[in-house]
Amino acid sequence: MAIAKKKPAVARSRGNLMAIAKKKPAEPVRIEIKREDTVKVISGRDKGKTGRVLRVDRETGKLLVEHVMMIKRHTRPNPQKQIKGGIAERESPIAASNVLVVCPGCNKAVRVAHHVDVVAGGKSRRTRICRKCGQTLDRK
Ligand SMILES: [Zn+2]
Repeated sequence: MAIAKKKPAVARSRGNLMAIAKKKPAEPVRIEIKREDTVKVISGRDKGKTGRVLRVDRETGKLLVEHVMMIKRHTRPNPQKQIKGGIAERESPIAASNVLVVCPGCNKAVRVAHHVDVVAGGKSRRTRICRKCGQTLDRK
């Protein structure tokens, strides 16, 4: 007598479940901070610190600011990639809403206003200006 093969109790789901669970990409955040700006941290662990912006991520709304939100990474040495082991310190992203741009004119942490110039031909150009003293924050 032949024994009937047992069927698996749970039916295997076909296809990739991860594809169904995939999150739709977040709306890019409007950040009025650019690379090389000097910003001041107004909230969080590193409140009060100032630093230069290294990178802006509009997808997540976060920034990498020099010497702000330093974290320690424990790295294993990898001689092939010339990586030394030990504890390395590096920056971690901070939310753009937790920083303010430092105005080069009045040297204060300020909110950013926009000045719209109408260039010949009906085109307009937006420049970022300091809300306190009116100094242009964009470099040419
Ligand atoms: Zn100013």
